[in-house]
Amino acid sequence: MITLRDVNKTYYTEATSLHVLKGIDLHIEQGDYVSIMGASGSGKSTLLNILGILDNYDTGDYYLNNKLIKDLSETQAAAYRNEMIGFVFQSFNLINFKNAMENVALPLYYKNISRKKRNAIALEYLDRMGLKDWAYHLPNEMSGGQKQRVAIARAIISQPKILLADEPTGALDSQTTEEVMQLLGELNQTGITTIIVTHEKAVADETRKVIHIKDGLIQHIEHN
Ligand code: ADP
Ligand code: MG
Repeated sequence: MITLRDVNKTYYTEATSLHVLKGIDLHIEQGDYVSIMGASGSGKSTLLNILGILDNYDTGDYYLNNKLIKDLSETQAAAYRNEMIGFVFQSFNLINFKNAMENVALPLYYKNISRKKRNAIALEYLDRMGLKDWAYHLPNEMSGGQKQRVAIARAIISQPKILLADEPTGALDSQTTEEVMQLLGELNQTGITTIIVTHEKAVADETRKVIHIKDGLIQHIEHN
């Protein structure tokens, strides 16, 4: 499903350059459940953003579902993202002036589905997340765990093949972390390839493979 070959990424700023990924080789099977661990600044988010086609890489190859993801136009990149990828972030990235249902429905906005239908589908997904009663609440009326479940519903409403989560439990207490991990585990069981960046060993322990990155390289892969 995902193959990276010798992927390199350098950030250039006015005075300096930072070689963040120094030749990443990686293979992830369909349906896999993977975590990525490494020190702060080791390139975890950079790698995840490349996998999510949110960022470009400089050299190497990235194949997603046998398609080479390289030098894409913004339109192509957006099309692949919409078709294949769901993204969840540490800070939820919900729209504060839209209620939970509207946030969840957002990815369907570009799919030529009526507003009524979009909202009905969003309600189904909120229900799956145990949040049916919260559909008309704004994000700032909800707990961190509830907001992350709204964000997960939004990430999967387009039925992506891959779910990418960048420190999804980073802002949550341990009880809520467990609840969110339970949910991600259940989603993975439905066949969504799931990749989680985390600092927390307890989170990584829930996944099947742990990829350790250090100094821009994959140091080793642990099998749970
Ligand atoms: P991690 O998620 O492991 O903490 P990141 O991938 O976010 O690491 O960042 C890796 C390194 O690249 C860090 O030193 C960070 O400061 C730097 N970096 C990240 N994004 C940019 C950017 N857009 N421009 C310049 N440097 C960046
Ligand atoms: Mg990061």
